[in-house]
Amino acid sequence: MTAYDNVVDALRTAGLKVTESANGARSQCPAHGSRGLTLAVRNNPRNPDGPLHVTCFAGCETEEVLAGLGLGFRDLYDGTVHRRGQSTPRERRMPSPWDLIPDPDHFASRCLQQEQLEADPTYQQHLRDLAEWAKPRSGDFVGRGVA
Ligand SMILES: [Zn+2]
Repeated sequence: MTAYDNVVDALRTAGLKVTESANGARSQCPAHGSRGLTLAVRNNPRNPDGPLHVTCFAGCETEEVLAGLGLGFRDLYDGTVHRRGQSTPRERRMPSPWDLIPDPDHFASRCLQQEQLEADPTYQQHLRDLAEWAKPRSGDFVGRGVA
């Protein structure tokens, strides 16, 4: 499986809207929850061996976009794509509290349901998972926010 196919498949599996053209794919961004297709996924024709270009025009870091899909930097290269489902715990999809909201695109619905959400044990578990996920671990990629 190519890096491109793997990333597009991961975007679709995450329930994001994806359109494909000859130039690559456009998708909603898994990192900032965009409604529009702000994410571009394309191979560099001058460097077919990679890395795959994964660019959010709203400014998300590639690392954040990949983390939102349970992927890592090595998944940008055709030769090192690992099979999803066999990923290590570090690479699992970051849980999002917004997963619990029926209409995550609608800002008002976030506000209205915030109180109800905070009382929900599943949401509280999500927050604990999130905190656990965000903890730096030895061997982590050293990037923004990781000491
Ligand atoms: Zn984004």
